[in-house]
Amino acid sequence: MRLHVVLSRKWRPQRFSEVVGQDHVVTTLQNSLATGRVAHAYLFSGPRGTGKTTVARILAKAVNCLNLQNPRTKPEPCNECLNCRNITSGRTFDVIEMDAASSRGIDQIRDLRENVKLSPSGCRYKVYIIDEVHMLTPEAFNALLKTLEEPPQHVIFILATTEKHKVLETITSRCLQFNFRRLSYNEIAGRLKFLARSEGFDIDDEALELIARNADGCLRDAENILEQMVASAQERITPEYASLMLGLGSAHLMDELSRCVIKQDLPGAISALDGLTESGADLTQCLKNLIGFFHDLMLLKINPDLKRLIDASGSKVNEMLSVISDVSLDRLRRIVKVLMRTERDIKELGYERFNLETALVEICQLRDGVPIEEALERLEEIEAKIETMPTEIKPSPVQEISAGGREEERPVSEDELREIWEKLLAKAKENSIALYSFMREGGPVSLQGNKLTISVANSVGKEYVERDESKEFMLRLLKDLLGRDIQLEVIVKEPAGQEDRKTPTSQFALYHKAMRDEGVRMVLEAFSGEIVEIGD
Ligand SMILES: [Zn+2]
Repeated sequence: MRLHVVLSRKWRPQRFSEVVGQDHVVTTLQNSLATGRVAHAYLFSGPRGTGKTTVARILAKAVNCLNLQNPRTKPEPCNECLNCRNITSGRTFDVIEMDAASSRGIDQIRDLRENVKLSPSGCRYKVYIIDEVHMLTPEAFNALLKTLEEPPQHVIFILATTEKHKVLETITSRCLQFNFRRLSYNEIAGRLKFLARSEGFDIDDEALELIARNADGCLRDAENILEQMVASAQERITPEYASLMLGLGSAHLMDELSRCVIKQDLPGAISALDGLTESGADLTQCLKNLIGFFHDLMLLKINPDLKRLIDASGSKVNEMLSVISDVSLDRLRRIVKVLMRTERDIKELGYERFNLETALVEICQLRDGVPIEEALERLEEIEAKIETMPTEIKPSPVQEISAGGREEERPVSEDELREIWEKLLAKAKENSIALYSFMREGGPVSLQGNKLTISVANSVGKEYVERDESKEFMLRLLKDLLGRDIQLEVIVKEPAGQEDRKTPTSQFALYHKAMRDEGVRMVLEAFSGEIVEIGD
C-alpha cells in the first residue's frame, strides 16, 4: 500500500502537456491563459478517473505561477517557484480542495462564503476546487450560487462533477464548461506502459493491455490496479496472472469461448464457460467482454475500415479481422442482441451461470436468416418450379468432393478409421440431426492418402451429405481431426432404387421420403432450412 501512495503522487501529471487524452480541454485552457482571459468559475464534467481534479490542480498552479513557461503560446506552470511548490505539496491555504460527497452541508459552504472574502495569503488567486459538486444539498447549492453571482476578483472556482445533469442550471450557466471524455483503450495502455517502464516493473505488455481493456475508460482505476498488482505479485506479471487478478479467469479460456461461439461449437463453449467458472472468473465481467468483442466484430464486418472505432490493440484487431469471414453480419447482430438481453436478465434475475449457458445454446445455434423480400421472391420461384416439376428424379452420379491440398500417402488402420468415424458422428449429432441420421445408416470405407471414402444407405443420403453445408462441415471437421485437407467421397451402399421397397417406419425413413420431394427440398434450400422432425 505504501507503494500505492508513492506512485500516484509521483506520476500525477504536473503540466498540461502530461495530461492524457484531454487535448481539447487542455488546449482551450492554455489558449485562454495565453491571452490572459481567466474565468472565475469553471465546470469540469466527465466520467470518473479521467483527470478532472488533476487538470484543476495544474490550472491552479498556472494562474499562480511566478514564472509561467511559454506564457504567450502554450503556458505551463514552472513547478519550481514557491507558489508552484506549495500548491503541489498542499502547503498553501490559497488552493482549497473540497469533496462535496463528504461535506455536502450548508455549513461548509457558509464557511466558504466567509473565507472567499479574505485575500489570498501568498498567491495571486484563491482557487476552490469542489469535487463531486452535484452532491451538494440544495441549500448549499444556493449558498454557492450567491458566491458565484458576485465572485471577488481574486477567487477562482473549479467545480468538478461526474453527473453534470444534476448540477443546477443556474450554476452551470455561470461557469466556463469543459467536458472530459472517457479515455480510449490505447491512451490508457500507453500510459500504463509509460508507468511500468519508468518504474522498471516486471510485467508483460500484454498484461498491461488487459488492465487497460478492463478499466472502462478510467485511467485512475487502471493505475490503481497496476499498482496493486505490482505490490502483490511475487514474480513477473504475465497475462494469465493479470487475468486472474482481474477476475477474468484465464484469458486463454475467454478466447476459447469466443472462438467456440463463432464456430458454433456448443459443447466447446459450455466447457470453456465451465473452465472460467472453475477459475473463479467474474462471469458478469466475462459477459461484458463477450458483448464488447462481438460488437467490435460486427463493426469490422460492416467495414474493416471501422477498426478505428475499436478500442483494442493492433494485434487483437488483426485477430478479429481474421475471423469475420467465418460469420455473417446478421448472426453477429443477433449474438450481440442475445448477449445484451442476457446481461439484463442477469441484472434482474441473477442466475449468472444458467443465464449464460442458455445464451450460449442460443447463440451457438443461430442460423443466418434470409431477408424477407428475398424469401418472398424465392417462394414465388419455388411455386413456379413446382408447377413444372419433373415427375422422376434421377440419382446423381458418384462425385468427389475436394477440399484441395496435396496427396499424402499414409496407411490408416481400421481402428483409426473407426475412431475418426465415431468422432465425425458425434460432431454431426451435435450439429445436425439429419446429417447424423444419414451417416449413422452408413459407415467408413477407407482413408487413402487424403481421400476419405464413406458410404451412405441410399442416394438421398448421398445427396444430403454432399450438400454444400454438410460438405463444408465435414471437411472442416476432418481438417481439425487430421490436420490436413481431406477429399471426401460418398458412395451408396445399396443400388439406387432399392430403398423404395422399404416401409417408412423410422423417423429416418420418413426423412428420406420427405427429402425425395422436390418441393420440400426447394423450400429447405431457399430458407437454408433443415428438417428437424417429421410428424404424421
Ligand atoms: Zn511556478
